[in-house]
Amino acid sequence: MNVSDSELMFGVLERAGYARTDDPAVADVMLVNTCAVRDHAEQRVLGRMGELKRYKRPGDVLGVVGCMAQRLGPKLLERVPQVDLVIGPDGYRGLPELIAQAQAGERAADVAFKGWEHYEDVPAVRDNPISAFVTVQRGCDYRCTFCIVPMTRGPERSRKLADVVGEVARLAAGGTTEVTLLGQTVNSYHDGTYDFADLLRAVGAVAGLRRLRFTSPYPTDFTPRVLAAMAETPAVCEHVHLPVQSGSSRTLKRMLRRYDRERYVEVVAALRDAMPGIALSTDIIVGFPGETEDEFQETLSLVEQVAFDDAYTFKYSVREGTPAVRIKDHVAEEIKTERIGRLIESVRRVAKRKNIGLVGTTHEVLVEGRAKRGELLQARTRTNKIALLDGPAEWIGTYHRVRFTGTTGSTFTAWPLEDFAVTARSEDEAAWQ
Ligand code: SAH
Repeated sequence: MNVSDSELMFGVLERAGYARTDDPAVADVMLVNTCAVRDHAEQRVLGRMGELKRYKRPGDVLGVVGCMAQRLGPKLLERVPQVDLVIGPDGYRGLPELIAQAQAGERAADVAFKGWEHYEDVPAVRDNPISAFVTVQRGCDYRCTFCIVPMTRGPERSRKLADVVGEVARLAAGGTTEVTLLGQTVNSYHDGTYDFADLLRAVGAVAGLRRLRFTSPYPTDFTPRVLAAMAETPAVCEHVHLPVQSGSSRTLKRMLRRYDRERYVEVVAALRDAMPGIALSTDIIVGFPGETEDEFQETLSLVEQVAFDDAYTFKYSVREGTPAVRIKDHVAEEIKTERIGRLIESVRRVAKRKNIGLVGTTHEVLVEGRAKRGELLQARTRTNKIALLDGPAEWIGTYHRVRFTGTTGSTFTAWPLEDFAVTARSEDEAAWQ
């Protein structure tokens, strides 16, 4: 979502006549887009502020934007003297004015929530011509006790379905074949008339769009309508990121998640039923206040039971102003470190077992670019598995059928099967439908 917000900011600034540079030494305006979900992210931002200070010439503007800006507001101007500008997620439209103000010597902050703001008229400036993020919902109305997001992104609101479809149609006309719809609880999308099921069907019907993903859904918002739309929309990919947070019903209750372990497992079964072969990844927090060893063990057993393909694992981080801060029996840092170690080991073992079982199977992949090291190309399956293969650079942005030839446990090596190259602006739609 931060990548998507940065793309909107580039849009706002480009429209105001700014040119983009990644080199702080030549920039007149430096903006740091920030996350507030964990303290670690915020500490890194403060470190970055120190680095960027060196590049600041008289008249230059250094701004902090996004969730940490929203959380700390004008306090950030007091605490960090080199910062001239603080803007929260609903204030990007005002960037040109606030930059001008800062250039005139007046440090400024805008952290007002604007419940109507969708940046509908701002053309996002995207780097990736193959795959695009499209924000469909801003803010969050859920109240998970550990989470700062509702306080930094404000109330939940959805874009109009027709606006989303219009944006995706423009992207597809420009050659983008994969889109990821974004929202904090994306499947609770509702624009007043249409729900997430309608949105999936409408976006899935856009000509030229071949892969449709979304993140992050909330487990209990997979209604039968949404499941049916997923199953019946060919572009919807067989991968869902389904944050669970904990395998213990008692912990989930204290987190104010709206499901218990059994309900979560039912949702997993319903997804597997609707889309056979679907891959599932998740988010897990260890060391939530009051989490006992037994409760942590339940998280380990859930990883085994669901057999996740992947998981993002986090140590609980105290977020000032959230209800969990007041829960008794905060878990010691050493115990969190020890638990996350065991959890990562468990996640890797389960994923490796699954992935070894996939060696020899065939998949459609979208070639995304060059692999980080070496000469190989990096591609992705519909199930979100990464495969490295040998092929010409012209394959970037195109679809191929491959066979998995090996795995490191997390990623695969693959062999292209035939001349099944389909260009981004594909003529050959029948081949995959
Ligand atoms: N709205 C999304 C979550 C966005 S934050 C959802 O409900 O799925 C992404 C992830 O960060 C969360 O799923 C959670 O696992 C983690 N997270 C959020 N707050 C945290 C905290 N205080 N400490 C540690 N991890 C946290």
